[in-house]
Amino acid sequence: LLLCFWAAFIEAEFMKYKDPKQPVNVRIKDLMSRMTVEEKIGQMVQIDRSVASAEVMKKYFIGSILSGGGSVPAKEASAETWINMVNEYQKGSLSTRLGIPMIYGIDAVHGHNNVYKATIFPHNVGLGATRDPELVKRIGAATALEVRATGIPYVFAPCIAVCRDPRWGRCYESYSEDPKIVQAMTEIVPGLQGDIPTNSHKGVPFVAGKYKVAACAKHYVGDGGTTNGINENNTVIDRHGLLSIHMPGYYNSIIKGVATIMVSYSSWNGIKMHANYDLVTGFLKNTLRFRGFVISDWQGIDRITSPPHANYSYSIQTGIHAGIDMVMVPYNYTEFIDGLTYQVKNKIIPMSRIDDAVKRILRVKFVMGLFENPLADFSLVNQLGSQEHRELAREAVRRSLVLLKNGESADMPLLPLPKKASKILVTGSHADNLGYQCGGWTIEWQGLSGNNLTRGTTILKAIENTVDPKTEVVYKEQPDANFVKSNKFSYAIVVVGELPYAETFGDSLNLTIPDPGPSTIMNVCEAVKCVVVVISGRPVVIQPYISSIDALVAAWLPGTEGQGVADVLFGDYGFTGKLSRTWFKTVDQLPMNVGDSHYDPLFPFGFGLTTKPAKAN
Ligand code: BGC
Repeated sequence: LLLCFWAAFIEAEFMKYKDPKQPVNVRIKDLMSRMTVEEKIGQMVQIDRSVASAEVMKKYFIGSILSGGGSVPAKEASAETWINMVNEYQKGSLSTRLGIPMIYGIDAVHGHNNVYKATIFPHNVGLGATRDPELVKRIGAATALEVRATGIPYVFAPCIAVCRDPRWGRCYESYSEDPKIVQAMTEIVPGLQGDIPTNSHKGVPFVAGKYKVAACAKHYVGDGGTTNGINENNTVIDRHGLLSIHMPGYYNSIIKGVATIMVSYSSWNGIKMHANYDLVTGFLKNTLRFRGFVISDWQGIDRITSPPHANYSYSIQTGIHAGIDMVMVPYNYTEFIDGLTYQVKNKIIPMSRIDDAVKRILRVKFVMGLFENPLADFSLVNQLGSQEHRELAREAVRRSLVLLKNGESADMPLLPLPKKASKILVTGSHADNLGYQCGGWTIEWQGLSGNNLTRGTTILKAIENTVDPKTEVVYKEQPDANFVKSNKFSYAIVVVGELPYAETFGDSLNLTIPDPGPSTIMNVCEAVKCVVVVISGRPVVIQPYISSIDALVAAWLPGTEGQGVADVLFGDYGFTGKLSRTWFKTVDQLPMNVGDSHYDPLFPFGFGLTTKPAKAN
């Protein structure tokens, strides 16, 4: 027995990093003193799950895995399947000499959006319209539970871009054109990670136990300010503009203990952010005293050169020197490892830079308790798509809707609609399409079309659920004018909008509603009283039709809980949402943000009519 105690004492004394009672800094120092250069460099590498295996994790000491856009197990995989997969990789990491756990990350940007049956919340543009940071915090907490339900401890969210031009294909990932709203919505960070203790030192990463996930504020910095909204392009703005428009979200995320920050593909005044020592090391790490780790974007360092990957050793040197700690090298990790090892051994990159990176990565792993609880269990699987989370998403949908027009005048409103009517028309490409309702970053990177992608309620189904049982709901996706005229509809609900897209694929110069949306609006609205519900990631061209439309609702990309739309259309709840973006008249006004001298919008920033809940109708 004495021998056992003695052995335990020796182990605790000499393997301090394994002892949870030791302060994190002591554990980090102890562990790092035991690590070889190869083990350290491995920690800095994040690979795509499609090339991961327990053997690869072990052989290269890989520090992290990600499921990028669509790199997931079979689409209909259960939470248990995910857990088993993540644990299998983890066992590879745990079987290394020092047993350092890997951290698995995923893009859960509006709920656990890669996973079948997860609750899909509205995209950020809609959440901005709720103006409610506390709601967004609750969404963060629900997302954390659903992500943990599948064994994953890390999300690449929130996107705190301040989208200044809706032509940008990622505008819907941005809460607002207004930095103050984006800053307020960083409340999602404590939602995802837990509330930082009051005695915590500013800038230190904090993640509260196994029901929370590490967050990642992205994309640092100025991603939403590129010229003409071209994705990954150049943001031309002076330092004051950068700090006052694009930086405030980072100040607040850091104060709230955000564990990681992702660097933007974009450039600032011609310098790629992945190569920007002054902003990554100088400002983020030294001035703001961010103590979590900085992660590159997907093949982000490759894109330091043009064309990408043209001079990989230069990319490695520049990116690591700039201050990137963990590098997303989805596939070519051996090339990266060999390149970085060579540069370290030849003192092209100083060992102190590697130590800084590894210290930060280990700190996040320690504060998350990954050393104590590296393997996921099945205790949270029922959280995935739970009724409670779906109710929360439905509430978020209701509050994200912005009512832009309601009848000809305030004393003749069309909304709320009566539930009792003899016959109503529901129409438009987006009325019965869950994929369109969810938009990009849903199951697939670019989003999907149709209703089989996951569980949810389309707007058509929601309307059918809501109206009086005696009301006849006629659904026709694309009615011609004669059809509408020859039927005696009390009113029509037209649901049209953008098709799903993500990143560069969503960049658009014209921002028009794709066909047959405009003709559906005109065929219906010229013949019968109509409510047009626009499903889109941003303001779109609506001015040419506005005089024909009786009531207009911006529903953004509401996600799986279409019931929230019917809740408000039929007056169970009132409209309360306010535009978090300026709604332009014509695209040649762009960029146009609140405060600009040429400000002449169709609907100004902050606009949104309200309705009162109807008495039982
Ligand atoms: C995006 C990031 C994302 C990453 C991993 C990149 O293309 O810019 O926002 O987190 O992929 O999927």
